[in-house]
Amino acid sequence: MLHHPELPTADLPWLPMNGAGFANLGETFATPTAPTPLPAAHWVACNEALRIELGLPSDLWQQQEALALFTGNRLTANHPTYASVYSGHQFGQWAGQLGDGRALNLGALQTPNGLQELQLKGAGPTPYSRRGDGRAVLRSSIREFLASEAMHGLGIPTTRALCVTGSPAQVRREDIETAAVVTRVAPSFVRFGHFEHFASNGQIDELRALADHVVTAHLPALQDKQGPERYVALLHEVTQRTAHLMAQWQAVGFCHGVMNTDNMSVLGLTLDYGPYQYLDGFDANHICNHSDHQGRYAYARQPQIAYWNLFCLGQALMPLMDDQAPALAALESFKTAFPAAMDQGMRHKLGLQGVLEGDRALVEDLLQALQQDRVDFTVFWRRLSMAVRESAHSTHAFEPVRDLFMHREVFDAWCVRYLERLGANKRQTTGDAMLRTNPKYILRNHLGELAIRQAKAGNFAMVQDLLLVLQAPFDEHPTHEAWAGLAPEWASSIEISCSS
Ligand code: AMP
Ligand code: MG
Repeated sequence: MLHHPELPTADLPWLPMNGAGFANLGETFATPTAPTPLPAAHWVACNEALRIELGLPSDLWQQQEALALFTGNRLTANHPTYASVYSGHQFGQWAGQLGDGRALNLGALQTPNGLQELQLKGAGPTPYSRRGDGRAVLRSSIREFLASEAMHGLGIPTTRALCVTGSPAQVRREDIETAAVVTRVAPSFVRFGHFEHFASNGQIDELRALADHVVTAHLPALQDKQGPERYVALLHEVTQRTAHLMAQWQAVGFCHGVMNTDNMSVLGLTLDYGPYQYLDGFDANHICNHSDHQGRYAYARQPQIAYWNLFCLGQALMPLMDDQAPALAALESFKTAFPAAMDQGMRHKLGLQGVLEGDRALVEDLLQALQQDRVDFTVFWRRLSMAVRESAHSTHAFEPVRDLFMHREVFDAWCVRYLERLGANKRQTTGDAMLRTNPKYILRNHLGELAIRQAKAGNFAMVQDLLLVLQAPFDEHPTHEAWAGLAPEWASSIEISCSS
């Protein structure tokens, strides 16, 4: 590895790295690459909850060597940083080789919850940077940091974010911005695109080694299976996880924005937060990525796109299987797993017990009513939960929900059906359960934007406060009541592109 001349190497006894992670696959997979230092590094955001989960020292945020490490200004002895190669389909087209163009992996950390891979995003160019600069800007780094932890707070599988560090170094995007580095944490960052890469190059031994790594390191339940059976089981497992992830995204109103196969995690984690958006007013056709002119990744299309992406993964795994039929069956399991997970998710949101025939129509008619009036998705569900609880002892409980609609007669008609289905019993406990299912706080675009504006001016307090609220999104946070409100008028003018 070419060490940058200014880059000191240090023993970091508080950072128990373990050689058994992804890097263990060897240099065909993990290309040794040193970070490029950034001047005058400073902390932007620190995730204390994750620090504790990872078992890192309590004075971590006071340590200069931690700041240096997480900015890419220091190396850990004996654990070379690396970039990994992957390929993928972008916007439905084969894009060929991509790879970690601005992600540098520190390796696997031994934690109380098993091995966790650590990755710096924005720590400088790699052999896979193509024409990019290997950097990330402060704006997009804060967006990724907050969204990862908001997702985790919502109970949705995701990569995590330990910290953001910043530097005055300039980075050219549409405007000149400043550089930042996010430290991401996940059991694995393996993407569908990693498999597509080795399959497309005809590197079948490598393809098998990668699949075996994912199974042995992350899916121990499949370990006893051998040969083609193992890889069919792998495809089935990824399909199931992806189906569940899609149901969770849809239920909370999350729009990823760039569901290319290189942004899909084989562990079913939400991965690569770019131009994402949590919906404000409900619109099934919402496109959050301003570069997505066709609306390929519109909110309502996400499950279908996930299914398409799974076929790319299935295609890539074919050389490891001798028969197409079981692979197709594994993929087809999406067609039952997704609707089942979605139905269950919506029943939870509505507080419905058991399964009745009219449930799906009840949900579909509700979504149509929300769509017609662009009712705020999060406020609706929260008010509905409160109303169900209040309705145990008030006849006006549903007024605040009704107020969200312009077509009140549509809501009234729906509400009659809903109350009938809900039944009169246990409204209090049902409402309580709904309040633990329907979050009060989500990371609305305008909240992220306000935090970013302050951060650009050198004030990181809102990033840190938002983090704490979003990590407990079902709780009341009386001092931050305003963050649970409707998006202001100017929120609709925020344009989020791929540029990050
Ligand atoms: P994304 O759309 O962010 O998932 O990125 C697609 C590909 O472009 C990945 O291979 C990234 O590593 C690469 N990439 C994106 N931005 C940069 C950048 N600023 N420098 C180098 N590579 C980048
Ligand atoms: Mg990506």
